[in-house]
Amino acid sequence: MQPRRVARQIEQIKRELLSLGPMRPGTLSRQYAACQKPGCACVDPVKPKRHGPFYQLSYAHAGKSTTRFVRPGYVTQVRKELRAYKRFRELTQKWVGLELTLSQLRLEQARREADEN
Ligand SMILES: [Zn+2]
Repeated sequence: MQPRRVARQIEQIKRELLSLGPMRPGTLSRQYAACQKPGCACVDPVKPKRHGPFYQLSYAHAGKSTTRFVRPGYVTQVRKELRAYKRFRELTQKWVGLELTLSQLRLEQARREADEN
């Protein structure tokens, strides 16, 4: 691979990173619950209908784990932010990989030039 081509791919990644919107780490889970109050539909012996869905967001940042509920009206936005964060991680991983490739290529190039002299 040509160093110039690798450098171009890095520039593309930087541009895409700049275009990423709001992001957040974590996973969103959907849950149903039973309140257990006598007579409630959630404890119906024949056809129990549990409460929910409830959306729970879990994430870890700076060594601290957090779990919180997300109101149904925010679920779409949160999903979008989770996707953006996933893309952010993909792009930064790819960037680092390309930087390693690039430094290897430059090292080889320098060695070749040293051999020629
Ligand atoms: Zn209930």
